[in-house]
Amino acid sequence: MTDHPIIAVDGPAASGKGTLARKLAAHFDFAYLDTGALYRAVAVSVMAAGGKVDNEADAVAAAKRFDMAQLADSDFAARLRTAETGRAASVAAAMPDVRAAIILAQRQFADTPPAGKKGAVLDGRDIGTNICPDAVAKLFITARPDIRAQRRWQELKADDAELSLATVLNDIEQRDARDAGRAAAPMRQAADAHLLDTSDLSIEEAFAAALALVEEKLNR
Ligand code: C5P
Repeated sequence: MTDHPIIAVDGPAASGKGTLARKLAAHFDFAYLDTGALYRAVAVSVMAAGGKVDNEADAVAAAKRFDMAQLADSDFAARLRTAETGRAASVAAAMPDVRAAIILAQRQFADTPPAGKKGAVLDGRDIGTNICPDAVAKLFITARPDIRAQRRWQELKADDAELSLATVLNDIEQRDARDAGRAAAPMRQAADAHLLDTSDLSIEEAFAAALALVEEKLNR
């Protein structure tokens, strides 16, 4: 148990968890870590080295090279958000040795939030179940697949005019199945996490609901 609050925000792709986690961190002035970016960084690093993400040795070597400073590099960061990187990240994330290589960086962030922040918000798939099981507040954010596909399509189509909504939906469904079905730290709601479905909520409504759940835990 740490002496500062940790908020765990998990959920599937495009559920709104990143937006909510960022807003919670800003509200409480806590440090924020998007743990999906670490898996995406591993995927980008494999591809940059000319390797293949489904080759375990390539993926594990890239995970062992991972350094938080990579996330601050703007060229590198621009490559993290593509649909191809998301897909590749979820392939690498199913490998136990990839997860093991980057677990410490996540736990260190939670245990010692950077810049003297008084708490941390981490978002991902296994924060409440595996990375920070003692988090004081845990949210599992979800939304219907068609809604998530619409949201992700709106984000990605600016950079890829050819991308269809059907492709994005198919991608999301495959990613959900891979992330929830893998043996190593699968995506699932922790027993003590609150479920928040954002399908029919605006960002403001979802944030108000998330904040109320977290405040109740912090004030206990
Ligand atoms: O959240 P994001 O879409 O950026 O995550 C990319 C991929 O990284 C996910 O599909 C998932 O396979 C993996 N991931 C994970 N555990 C986390 C965060 C992300 O397995 N804590």
